[in-house]
Amino acid sequence: MKLITFVHNGKQSAGVVGKDGSIVPLPYCSVDDMLWDPGWRETVQKAAESPNTLARQEVKLLAPIPVPRQDLICLGINYMEHAEESARYKKEAFGGERPYAVYFSKRVNEAVADGGYIESHSQLTDSLDYECELAVVIGKDCRDVGKEEVQDYILGYTIINDVSARDVQTRHKQWYFGKSLDGFTPMGPWIVTEDEIPYPPRLSVQSFVNGELRQDGNTEKLIFDIGHVICELSSGMTLKAGTIIATGTPAGAGMGFTPPKFLKPGDVVTCRIQGIGEITNTVR
Ligand code: MG
Repeated sequence: MKLITFVHNGKQSAGVVGKDGSIVPLPYCSVDDMLWDPGWRETVQKAAESPNTLARQEVKLLAPIPVPRQDLICLGINYMEHAEESARYKKEAFGGERPYAVYFSKRVNEAVADGGYIESHSQLTDSLDYECELAVVIGKDCRDVGKEEVQDYILGYTIINDVSARDVQTRHKQWYFGKSLDGFTPMGPWIVTEDEIPYPPRLSVQSFVNGELRQDGNTEKLIFDIGHVICELSSGMTLKAGTIIATGTPAGAGMGFTPPKFLKPGDVVTCRIQGIGEITNTVR
């Protein structure tokens, strides 16, 4: 099932993409709003039987969770080749070891939909970069989840572009500011529910800039996989329903090239993940 948030006639709603591509509206204003209703699965089932559908071209898709209630939880350098390119860019030694996961957060005032713009913030940064990532959305509050139960708490998966201002994130020591600028989180186009993707997900993760393949990884190469991450984080903090965890990006970010291939206004970035789809955004 593909869960979406969309606007139709000026009204924002959650919905499901039907098998024929039509849109089934749901009585919630966004996908994360839906999670507050303990009976949402029955409501979705009932709506799917209703003849009241909308044609795809009648609606404007937003990011599935347009305004996350909490900052995104992100994994830093969670693919070995990206850890190497990142160390090379920062001129640091890299010993090839990663004993503990690196967690950080990213503020998202409003996620950018497929087709929306990535703001270049050229007054602040000259090293705008892209990071295609598989994001996991938590479906119900969880605390102290064992590795074997993790799947029960996953609503589904979506695509995130963890846009990053490299000079800002380096200058301020912590990555928060350089990854949280307005327009830095393209997300979507939908959340594919977990039942449609074999667990653990082994999905190709690719990004393209102006049609040129830049990143070409696979989530089977995650250093810390989804089971590890949810189990570890929930062993001390409650992960609330609607929490979004971005699992990190493979090698091929702009900073990994010599010289670096940073983004500039007019560039078109596509992030594609097997089994989910793709999102395309233009830098302005
Ligand atoms: Mg990232």
